[in-house]
Amino acid sequence: MHEFSLAEGLARELLRIAREHKASAVREVYVSIGALSGIVRESFSFGFEIIKEHEPMLKESQLHIEVDYPTYRCGQCGYLIERSSVVPAQCPMCNGVEFYPSGGDDLKIMRVELDLEEETSGGGDEHV
Ligand SMILES: [Zn+2]
Repeated sequence: MHEFSLAEGLARELLRIAREHKASAVREVYVSIGALSGIVRESFSFGFEIIKEHEPMLKESQLHIEVDYPTYRCGQCGYLIERSSVVPAQCPMCNGVEFYPSGGDDLKIMRVELDLEEETSGGGDEHV
């Protein structure tokens, strides 16, 4: 249930951003999940789906997930192989076989689209 608590963390952060901008709702959420983070995307988005049902501000939000691949640095010559989905087998510069990954191991919020309208345009909104 690691993903669920991460989804909770995302929800908290989104609510904070929404409040900061005095938004009425969160529309689109773009996150990147590192390929090496060990986060299961399906579990993460499933967790978020559950959480948003309980948050009026998040109810209409759409979660978009992209995978962030790490950059590998050759341990021998320092050559960088950017955003590789696989661990490189051999360095094209020096034929070294030792690589050190950097990045691609965390969860980042890339972009958030907020609903800033005072009036609700969707209709059917109920205010208690
Ligand atoms: Zn190299």
